Amino acid sequence: MKSEIKLFENGKRLDGRMPDELRNIKIKAGVLHRAEGSCYLEWGGNKVMVAVYGPREAIPRHTQNPLRAIVTARYNMAAFSVDDRKRPGPDRRSREISKVISEALENVILVEKFPRATIDVNIEVLDAEAGTRCAGLTAAAVALVDAGIPMKDIPVSCAAGKIEDQIVLDLGKDEDNYGSADLPIAISPRTGDVLLLQMDGHLTQEEFDKAFDLALKGCHIISDLQKKAILETYQSESGGD
Ligand code: ADP
Repeated sequence: MKSEIKLFENGKRLDGRMPDELRNIKIKAGVLHRAEGSCYLEWGGNKVMVAVYGPREAIPRHTQNPLRAIVTARYNMAAFSVDDRKRPGPDRRSREISKVISEALENVILVEKFPRATIDVNIEVLDAEAGTRCAGLTAAAVALVDAGIPMKDIPVSCAAGKIEDQIVLDLGKDEDNYGSADLPIAISPRTGDVLLLQMDGHLTQEEFDKAFDLALKGCHIISDLQKKAILETYQSESGGD
């Protein structure tokens, strides 16, 4: 979509960020006591809560896979998470996001260790301001670690995009609305494997490569924040509080 508002002023974005700058991110692991694992994440104006249950026997039984666990991520946007009240319940968009996140997580969780089981990942978006699938997946990864689910790596997600002919990291709400492309990715930071790659809008090959590299850079910064959040939780627990 052609930009209807000015998204750049003196080389800076509407919220004052440089093109390669992320929004502020805060991550806290182990915030819910009934769930096996949990994470609360704030990413710019996004607020996301994730609760993990399992591995436990998949019911009904016909859903079981005798060779491995099934991973079911459920992405849900609260009715109050957007400006106009959102109709509660699943829609096409939330089903799509649930599916791509489930598949991304399935590729890092050691699913063969838990035949016939299910691992449920509930992602609740409380406040939405663009980039919620990246926020949800990043928080889900921390909640899975908190639940003690064995994984090959801690996956992480971030997007880059194009606004006013510039490639930028981590689109905000107006940038998402008035920009011309959004490229969310998720990776395994240790191996570099791509777990999710979607694209909204149009990019040339050269722009795509630039956006992909920028999103990768974002992923590595956020990966460090995930590890810090996990260490903070477990260091304070082992310290006795
Ligand atoms: P993502 O949140 O992963 O960027 P989209 O690109 O589909 O996914 O959505 C961009 C943003 O648009 C969301 O983060 C949210 O702020 C807003 N949005 C999505 N769905 C709705 C809706 N049903 N009503 C109002 N705003 C919405």
